[in-house]
Amino acid sequence: MSSRTALLVALAVLLVGLTIAMVLGTPWHPLPVGGDRVPVDPTADFPAAEIARAKAYRAALRPPAYASLVLTLVVTVVLGLSPWGARLVEAVSAPLGGGWGWRVLLGGIAVTAVGRLVVLPLDAWAESVRRRYGLSTQTWGSWLVDVGKSYGVGLVITLVVLFGVFALIRWSPEWWWVWGAAAGALLVIVVSFAYPVVIEPVFNNFKPLQDGQLRTSLLDMAERDGVPARDVLVADASRRTTALNAYVSGFGATRRIVVYDTLLEKASAEEVRLVVAHELGHAKRRDVLLGSLLGALGAATLVCVLALALRSEGLLRRAGVSSAGDPRALALVLAIVAVIAAVSGPVQVLVSRRIEARADVHALDLTRDPQTFIEMQRRLSVTNLSDPDPPPLVFGLFATHPTGPQRMALARDWARLERVPAPPALAR
Ligand SMILES: [Zn+2]
Repeated sequence: MSSRTALLVALAVLLVGLTIAMVLGTPWHPLPVGGDRVPVDPTADFPAAEIARAKAYRAALRPPAYASLVLTLVVTVVLGLSPWGARLVEAVSAPLGGGWGWRVLLGGIAVTAVGRLVVLPLDAWAESVRRRYGLSTQTWGSWLVDVGKSYGVGLVITLVVLFGVFALIRWSPEWWWVWGAAAGALLVIVVSFAYPVVIEPVFNNFKPLQDGQLRTSLLDMAERDGVPARDVLVADASRRTTALNAYVSGFGATRRIVVYDTLLEKASAEEVRLVVAHELGHAKRRDVLLGSLLGALGAATLVCVLALALRSEGLLRRAGVSSAGDPRALALVLAIVAVIAAVSGPVQVLVSRRIEARADVHALDLTRDPQTFIEMQRRLSVTNLSDPDPPPLVFGLFATHPTGPQRMALARDWARLERVPAPPALAR
């Protein structure tokens, strides 16, 4: 079999495998199907003034936020599909002799830095909107430090990928993708595993929740749920935001449940319990591991698409290089990755929303307290200025969670199925 045929077969197998894993792994119906459903009605639980304030905030944030996303993609694609990317790599690495390692290192830094700097004003505009609405607690200094840190973290991962890609292509131009796909999958698993202990501490400090009634009741609940936890960690999120959040990250030895300090400050103990019950749902169903495995399959697929694209002489010519092993093609590699990431985004958030709904059902099963659940959802939405009724396109492309009113409707559906009194509307 020629390497090209093998590549096409591998790509087809991976695409089918990824689709099957996604269809079977996604909890499409967290509640039993059938029967009437409580309609999603933002006005039932949110007074008009709250809806208006959230909509005004989102309307102010969207122009810079989406312009930044689009411009990043445009700059990456223009650098990759024109000789400019190759020229930039050449220009920054020539003084050091232009060996392939220097080209990857300095070229990788230059191409990503251009993409980052071009959108910096838009990101500052978005930050000024967050500040105007009281969501950001940062100074411009600490904001810039954050920008630098996240650029640094992204750069390290990008450089690891680029060195891997070009080392493999130079070693085996025909079959590099076999090893590349395996290495890509492994990298996703390793990063996901190490994330809580390597990357999160770059941005936040974490402390165990202090001893007391709340800690005891949360750990008891985890025990009762069959997901024993050593600790609940508190992140110093208030240095950055007033928003409320909690999450689970890592798996196996690195798994942890984290709550924002802002949540402990503003929410009642019952609401914190509900948030943690939702996170226990993620832990119990091993959602982080599921996401990592889907991500690993996705990374292997991505490497095969990349290998196929790099066989196109037309694309290489556009990028101003004559062979895929020339590290000046790194801008082309980054452009292809960026386009695939953008295209797969809506599928990823679709799966994410179903997984979030399942964690909500878990929280309701565990606490049997739909009343506190909808009060907690209301607090999250109002404090974080989430749009209770976002434009469908925005929701479909970007929303990782169902909207507040959708989650409240789910809680009322749950109450009816469990024959528990349904929580009355909060805004009437
Ligand atoms: Zn969640």
